[in-house]
Amino acid sequence: MYRTHTCGELNAANINEEVTLCGWIQKIRKLGGMTFIDLRDRYGITQLAFNSEINPDICKQIEPFGREWVIRATGKVTERYSKNKNIPTGDIEILVTNIEVLNPSQVPPFTIEDESDGGDELRLKYRYLDLRRNPLKNNLLFRHKLSIEIRNYMNELGFMEIETPMLINSTPEGARDFVVPSRVNPGEFYALPQSPQTFKQLLMMAGYDRYFQIVKCFRDEDLRADRQPEFTQVDCEMSFVEQEDVLQTFEGLIRHIFKKIKNIDLPKVERITWADAMRYYGSDKPDARFGMKFVELNDVLKHRDFKVFNEAELVVGIVAKGCANYSRKQLDGLTDFVRRPQIGASGLVHITCNQDGTFKSSVDKFYNADDLKAVAEKCGAEAGDLILIMAGQKLKTQKQLCELRLEMGNRLGLRKAGEYKVLWVIDFPLLEWDEETQRYYAMHHPFTAPKPEHEAMLESNPGEVNANAYDLVINGNEIGGGSIRIHDRKLQQRMFKVLGLSEEETERKFSCLLNAFQYGCPPHGGLAFGFDRLCAILSDCDSIRDFIAFPKNNAARDTMCNAPSIISQEQLDELRIELKK
Ligand code: ASP
Repeated sequence: MYRTHTCGELNAANINEEVTLCGWIQKIRKLGGMTFIDLRDRYGITQLAFNSEINPDICKQIEPFGREWVIRATGKVTERYSKNKNIPTGDIEILVTNIEVLNPSQVPPFTIEDESDGGDELRLKYRYLDLRRNPLKNNLLFRHKLSIEIRNYMNELGFMEIETPMLINSTPEGARDFVVPSRVNPGEFYALPQSPQTFKQLLMMAGYDRYFQIVKCFRDEDLRADRQPEFTQVDCEMSFVEQEDVLQTFEGLIRHIFKKIKNIDLPKVERITWADAMRYYGSDKPDARFGMKFVELNDVLKHRDFKVFNEAELVVGIVAKGCANYSRKQLDGLTDFVRRPQIGASGLVHITCNQDGTFKSSVDKFYNADDLKAVAEKCGAEAGDLILIMAGQKLKTQKQLCELRLEMGNRLGLRKAGEYKVLWVIDFPLLEWDEETQRYYAMHHPFTAPKPEHEAMLESNPGEVNANAYDLVINGNEIGGGSIRIHDRKLQQRMFKVLGLSEEETERKFSCLLNAFQYGCPPHGGLAFGFDRLCAILSDCDSIRDFIAFPKNNAARDTMCNAPSIISQEQLDELRIELKK
């Protein structure tokens, strides 16, 4: 046997046993005639002890050893003189009688400790060393457990995990495709899946009425913090279902996960319509851990001479509880916050509700005490509160106030780690108008069905059509989304037309799906969860990168393996690709 135990399992019950351990040297300490080595593997750390009086030869042998050397040690388990209560093996040590170097190591470029001295980029370049550290190891273990729990739950409910191909024709999810040239079909390209959307729908047509897959997806999007060009989805689809069936099934999954992974009994997942989410939180993924809901103030603030409000489509405010004592500097700080280019508001109006029942505002010139009182009443603000108001074009103002609300939530400590608010956002609009290109885009994707009662206005009033589409949101993060699908060829063709696709384009991109609709397509629907994000959220962590074994950096590069990289002229020739000079 190469090793008899791992470095995480020996304890007082093993005293006097002869054991062999393998692992990496975490630390070497010399104390007089004794030398101690902390030996580490995936499972833990065990102390090896060397006594120069009893065994001078071994002590000589280990002199050149350094951090991260891989060794094998044999010896007797003995009770430790000074015990370490912090680790499971802390009661014992191994009095080593034989040691073997399996492989020496260079000094690692950063310390392999829970808190490393290496910067992000350096640790990414040596990810295999970074993965030796406990925090990352624990994250990957967490990810593994989560995937097992998901598979258990889905399996229990009769879902089949079916793999779908990676080299495919484009599946639109609103991003650019990564493409792969085909050598045997010169001039032609595969796309990597943005999602298995088409295939899971085809599986429904094939009769596999409950499908799921934990699957890699690829989206060539502009770089944004914490986006990965390849990421993992828990992808699911069901036949003969309505929206309610899908919501119930996956609410069950989320509850199962919270119970198994976090031992939390989640209350019933609340639902909010997209329209209400926008109205009360200015976001389709509200962080509902705290209230501070938007209050529309058009009717109480548009009657005086204040042009900014009078010309605005929307005047809307939030109440920051107990913030009436904000200093001039703090208030200016909030104005600066909303004026930052990322938010882009022109200003912020505040009303302070003083303890004595009077009001003070930044627009006292325009509004009298009664006006301000009416605003406070409408907002439900009390003495001691601060009302923050923004105005302008509706959607823009909602988004800006959403940022301010989240910022205030942070400042007031209302976005507590370890607290979870899970929501279904439902009744999304089917389409979204884009000013720049002057056309509609599918809000979810083009396979999403309009609500049956809205189908008739698909062409006449597309902007008003809602969909049976839903998102699952946890603490302000979109964790998943899906919809009931179109399963009728004619309706799908109408949809493509509303999206401005020519018949030629429809044929080229979607003929397979459209054809399949002709051979008995069951009504179906489903959703997909972002698995990396789910791992991060459940761990109260901001970064999905920490839950991916080998992620890309912020420039979409794998600096460890040096990808992407140039390829040889020979390969280019074979693919018949000519690079522009
Ligand atoms: N394919 C969709 C996505 O990737 C999810 C779904 O509609 O099931 O967002």
